[in-house]
Amino acid sequence: MANKVIPYGKQSISQDDINAVIDVLKSDWLTQGPAVPAFESAIAEYCGAHYACATNSATSALHIACLALDVGKGDIVWTSPISFVASSNCALYCGAEVDFVDIDLETGNMSVAALKEKLTLAKQSQRLPKVVIPVHLAGQSCDMASINALAKEYGFKVIEDASHAIGAKYKDKPVGSCVYSDITVFSFHPVKIITSAEGGMAVTNCAELNKKMSRLRSHGITNIPEEMTESSHGPWYYQQLELGFNYRMTDMQAALGLSQLKQLDNFVSVRNDIATTYNYAFANSTVAHLTQSNECYSSYHLYIVRLTQCDEEKHKSVISGMREQGIIAHLHYIPIHLQPYYQALGFSDGDFPNAESYYKQAVTIPLHPTMTADEQKAVITAFFNLVN
Ligand SMILES: *Cc1c(COP(=O)(O)O)cnc(C)c1O
Repeated sequence: MANKVIPYGKQSISQDDINAVIDVLKSDWLTQGPAVPAFESAIAEYCGAHYACATNSATSALHIACLALDVGKGDIVWTSPISFVASSNCALYCGAEVDFVDIDLETGNMSVAALKEKLTLAKQSQRLPKVVIPVHLAGQSCDMASINALAKEYGFKVIEDASHAIGAKYKDKPVGSCVYSDITVFSFHPVKIITSAEGGMAVTNCAELNKKMSRLRSHGITNIPEEMTESSHGPWYYQQLELGFNYRMTDMQAALGLSQLKQLDNFVSVRNDIATTYNYAFANSTVAHLTQSNECYSSYHLYIVRLTQCDEEKHKSVISGMREQGIIAHLHYIPIHLQPYYQALGFSDGDFPNAESYYKQAVTIPLHPTMTADEQKAVITAFFNLVN
């Protein structure tokens, strides 16, 4: 067939976006210029948070977020098994141990009931987590008020992995307001809601955490006299205070991100319209989709259905069958604890039953703002032909 391939997600780049990058290329600063702080301020303002620290990826942002919260050897970090591996790798980078909290099958997000139960047991065995990283799967916020209440009760910190969820809302506030967490991390990878090619951001309301993260993303170096251990030797002087990294975002990336941010609300609104059409199509069918809480406005990074009535063979053939027709169905995600690297750390099949049963049923079907109504119809038709 000569049909155009329909990807599961795709960036949408305007002439304004292109011009913004060209302007940087013609300027004096390709990196460490004015675009990065401008992008940071704009994201902080959008989220209603005090500070934002731009990085070269969400993975880097998660790493320095953990470090800023003093995650290290002997500490334990918990996250969701249904996420991209970066959500848990960040703790391993710090020398900490990782464990997972099983998901709620209806939303795919970390189950608060499972979290509560695990915390009770962890308290008894004195193995409470230092940090918990809830992941807002597909763009819908986790139950952050409950997670925050547990954080206060058990004394852990919270990093929201909101890689999917910029532009989303929780209890009428933007995800990233950090009302219920210490730090929120966004990704600007091209498949996400807005893009800077590669790029990430760590948002917080805490000046101290922001200062630490800003230092860690640039070698642990400061040139702020008040942060130094002795008075400055002169205008060339800087001090390395800790072991940091080069996790900086370039000005070209920041200019692209800043320009994309202007489209964010529009992108999310179109994503919600497409999702509503899918919801109608799947209503009264055997196909379930992730349920949405009425406290949440999702950014719909992904549209995920669950084939609750199909066996594994059928599930696999639906994804393969769509792909054969040029419709790139996908699966988000392979449970992290089933990855060979994590199995070698001691995790095994059966550890997180909901995550594992989700993996046998979930299908991501295409959703992106540039998708046409005809393309969406083709997806729905192909999908039902394969499922029924
Ligand atoms: C994409 C993604 C990341 C990593 O983002 P990068 O910017 O590619 O490093 C982390 N967590 C989740 C949930 C993601 O989807």
